[in-house]
Amino acid sequence: MKFKEKVMVGGEQIGQVLKNHTIRPTVQRIDIARVLLAKPQHLSADKVFGLVNTKDELVSKATVYNTLNLFVDKGLINQVVVDSRYIFYDSNTESHHHFYNEDTGLLQDIEDEGTLVKNIPGLPKNTVQTGIDVVIRVKNQS
Ligand SMILES: [Zn+2]
Repeated sequence: MKFKEKVMVGGEQIGQVLKNHTIRPTVQRIDIARVLLAKPQHLSADKVFGLVNTKDELVSKATVYNTLNLFVDKGLINQVVVDSRYIFYDSNTESHHHFYNEDTGLLQDIEDEGTLVKNIPGLPKNTVQTGIDVVIRVKNQS
């Protein structure tokens, strides 16, 4: 599902989006989905943890991690692994590529990706292509 198809504001609608992805909508899952799906964005698990814990009721780190993994498994969000230390959760599940700034830690979408991947090598026997994920690492000019 593309991002624009799941943009919503109310908890009820988020609950329905979760159901559409065969995710049982619990209060905590709705809280986490509301934070993630607010806009196209890339958030670390720590950032999500901070954003869902602005209220009194604490959502544990384990719950945040488990929920993010569930959302990825169910195709609600994408996981972008820059390396094992930098994992982002992307609310935009359309196929797209990223710039990662090593100085700022910012991950951003590459808008003009049509030109990016031209010569795709022959696939290994008995496989089909399911996606191409490119992360171009950059740093600030000194
Ligand atoms: Zn992205």
